[in-house]
Amino acid sequence: MAGFRDILLRLFVVVLIAVGASTAARADIAVTTCVAPLTGSPAEAASHRFDCDGAQHRLGSGDFAAQLRFKPFQPDPSDPLVLRTTSVWQEGEQITFRYGDETTAQVAFDASNARHFMTIGAIFEFPIPVRAAPLTGIDIKIKDSANWRGVVVGAHLMTASQSYRLQSWLVALYAAFGGLSLALLAYNLALWSVLRHRFQLSYAAMVSALMAYTFTSSSVAMLVIPPLANNDRLRLNYMFLALAAVASIRFMVDFFGPQVFQPRLRRLAALVCSATLLSALAFALLAPWQGFWLDRIYFAGCSAALLLVVPIIYAAWRARVRNLGLFVIAWSAPVVASIARAAYGIGLLDYSFWLDNGNLIALSIESLLSIMLIVTRLRDLYSERDQAKAGELSALRLASSDPLTGLLNRRAFIDHAIGRTEPHRLFLIDIDHFKAINDRIGHDAGDEVLREVSKAIQECRPDDSLAVRLGGEEFALLVPLRLQRQCPPDRLLAAIRQRKMPMNWQVTVSVGFVDGRITSEEDWRRLYRLADTALYRAKADGRDRACRATDFGATKVA
Ligand code: GH3
Ligand code: MG
Ligand code: MG
Repeated sequence: MAGFRDILLRLFVVVLIAVGASTAARADIAVTTCVAPLTGSPAEAASHRFDCDGAQHRLGSGDFAAQLRFKPFQPDPSDPLVLRTTSVWQEGEQITFRYGDETTAQVAFDASNARHFMTIGAIFEFPIPVRAAPLTGIDIKIKDSANWRGVVVGAHLMTASQSYRLQSWLVALYAAFGGLSLALLAYNLALWSVLRHRFQLSYAAMVSALMAYTFTSSSVAMLVIPPLANNDRLRLNYMFLALAAVASIRFMVDFFGPQVFQPRLRRLAALVCSATLLSALAFALLAPWQGFWLDRIYFAGCSAALLLVVPIIYAAWRARVRNLGLFVIAWSAPVVASIARAAYGIGLLDYSFWLDNGNLIALSIESLLSIMLIVTRLRDLYSERDQAKAGELSALRLASSDPLTGLLNRRAFIDHAIGRTEPHRLFLIDIDHFKAINDRIGHDAGDEVLREVSKAIQECRPDDSLAVRLGGEEFALLVPLRLQRQCPPDRLLAAIRQRKMPMNWQVTVSVGFVDGRITSEEDWRRLYRLADTALYRAKADGRDRACRATDFGATKVA
């Protein structure tokens, strides 16, 4: 397990380095984004002062004009430029590309055709026509921007080949996440169908919600469901992230159980889950009405859900939960990704592609490590179960065996014997003059004689037979009649006679035996009585011999 964990951690480091390297290798054209609210006529807007400091969300919602400023650029006709912007809540845009020769080119979209410009990762991409003159500027008119996080976000100019590389990365990222999630889901549900642990179901719910969230975070949702407007895609996206957060908390509750989730923590978790779900529902149903505040409340709800990990880890640490380290690593990935996004939200970090998609990697890490937690948990549960079973078994063995000799005791013997349908031979074996042994060489040596006699019986008996100490110095042996040749009475007598005993005492036994079936308690009593009569006869005839019982009496055979 530790080796597997080690390999996974190394893999993550490699992925992170690759991601970092690919980001560093990207050479975009530096773009400054400036926006101005469009309150009145276009002429009025033209005279409006553009705000380029990046804190666009302070301008509130409405129509906007934006200018993308950059150094004039003459693209290679074989590798034209594209404009990429992150999808935000708005009704539509009209984009004008300006060239050095005063010519312009235009592209426009609204809710009805937005999906044509959307690429994977919910990013709009607009091809820029190549002209003889260099591209000098881009003007964008935005209709009904909600402007919760900005009017034009993540505007980048790059060549078509750079965009292709980037999209390939994203396709790989989404495909990896999708494949991983599907595999985890299938594996977990298949396991659940057999093991039925609650935490497996809540894990499946968590992964499903994360998949739905990822699906609606990418443009794939709009490809699969063409009538889905971009703004409605965002509503679904908010809902699924909240559902994923709630399912994750549910998973932790089921996984750690009441040992970690004491009533207070449970109440707190229920409160945070309700708040998160309600805020998402309010946003999904009401936005863009009060969108700015609904968005902020939703953000607070999701942050609270994420921060709940802190008291949970603390409680788990106090409850000395095993593998807590793995849990901490699993959850620190989405926590770090969210902190990075929050830092971007308040302007501490610049927009970056990986900031926008880092949650995907973080969620993959979380899902993958959580399944490892489940595996270690299942291992613990089953080793506990095996231990309990072994304990039960040894208790049962103890209750059904004679402590001195280890043979079955009378009760267990009768339980095992009754119901054997095939005919058997029942031997009753009684040590001769045992009282004298006790009297002459002591009670402890007497016990030792009992053990030696029982060993001799064990060594003589065939596999499918039952040996019992009925009490005192009396034993019984029940042998299937088909095996009786393996255990003739004279062999039994000889084995005991030849056995080395304490103080070299010569020990003999007398044996009475009878053949018959033991299908009921009644049968048992009858056979026992017959064998006992035969044993009595053996004693009376001088001991150290075996007598066979018939319905007419007992006959000496050895
Ligand atoms: P017989 O040949 O007629 O069978 O004579 P016996 O002395 O073997 O039979 P009896 O029934 O008179 O004596 C049995 C003795 O076995 C009496 C009892 O003290 C002794 N005994 C019973 N259980 C144990 C035990 O667990 N350990 C020891 N050391 N002695 C036991
Ligand atoms: Mg005896
Ligand atoms: Mg006796």
